[in-house]
Amino acid sequence: MGSLKLMCAGCHSAVPRLTNGRCDDCKATTLRLGTKKPVETIDMTPTWRGIVPVLVAAIENGTVQGRRIALEELYRMADLADKQVEASKVAEGKANG
Ligand SMILES: [Zn+2]
Repeated sequence: MGSLKLMCAGCHSAVPRLTNGRCDDCKATTLRLGTKKPVETIDMTPTWRGIVPVLVAAIENGTVQGRRIALEELYRMADLADKQVEASKVAEGKANG
């Protein structure tokens, strides 16, 4: 265990810094999970739902860095979900007067 690497599919950085689902270095929106051959490729743009299995795999079987990146992504997703809840509360409040 601990053998899968989460890496940027664009620049192959083993420690991609992500901003809004994009690699800071090469702006790729695709992450890759695997060893030499990618086991999974993950497109960061289409759905959050599609990202979860790869993050889970990275947390379960990934390297320490892969786990850290996966956890950061999970927290980022949670933050976005919280913001969405806040936004809908505000919208509801306005609708109800
Ligand atoms: Zn990159």
